[in-house]
Amino acid sequence: MDISVSDYGVGAAVGNDLVATSPTVRGAAGEALPDPDALALLLAEHAVRPAATADGRAPSAGDVRDVQLLRREVRGILETETGEQAVAGGIVLLKRAGQSPVLRRDGDGWEWYVPTAPDAPLAAELAALVAVGLLGTVRALGHDRFRPCAAPDCRGVFADTSRAGRRRYCMPDLCGNRLNVANHRARLRAGGVPR
Ligand SMILES: [Zn+2]
Repeated sequence: MDISVSDYGVGAAVGNDLVATSPTVRGAAGEALPDPDALALLLAEHAVRPAATADGRAPSAGDVRDVQLLRREVRGILETETGEQAVAGGIVLLKRAGQSPVLRRDGDGWEWYVPTAPDAPLAAELAALVAVGLLGTVRALGHDRFRPCAAPDCRGVFADTSRAGRRRYCMPDLCGNRLNVANHRARLRAGGVPR
């Protein structure tokens, strides 16, 4: 798989969504990456096509286990306190399958790509993809774009790659509503008029 260095937002988005599948974040809802089908869906949602799944090969149960372990590492990088720590962690993931960058023709111009090793396991390819995403985020936007989710009781963390940098929730649809519900309850407790 060739990973575009300038499109680092793709890897960051995969990292964010991967972290958000964990029981740590989902709470009572539990594991959201339980089997190969769920992993295939996550990849399809981001149009990620690892070489390990070329020719219609499906992810295996072993791939799922390895990606669940990767998820913990990605979370660790998003929770680092300094840019240096984040970069060190990103390089570890990058090296798992990432090869020397190559400059390729892309339309009229040239683009940097990180190719992954030909027979790399799926989780190693994903590690490189997420690493390019997180390292690119630090380089382009700064380490303070790694944040905890603002929703009460949510243990999510994410990389905010939005232009404005005002993203607040790890899962905007779900966690934004969680906050609304909490505010609503707080107003009721305070004797306010529910809106
Ligand atoms: Zn959240």
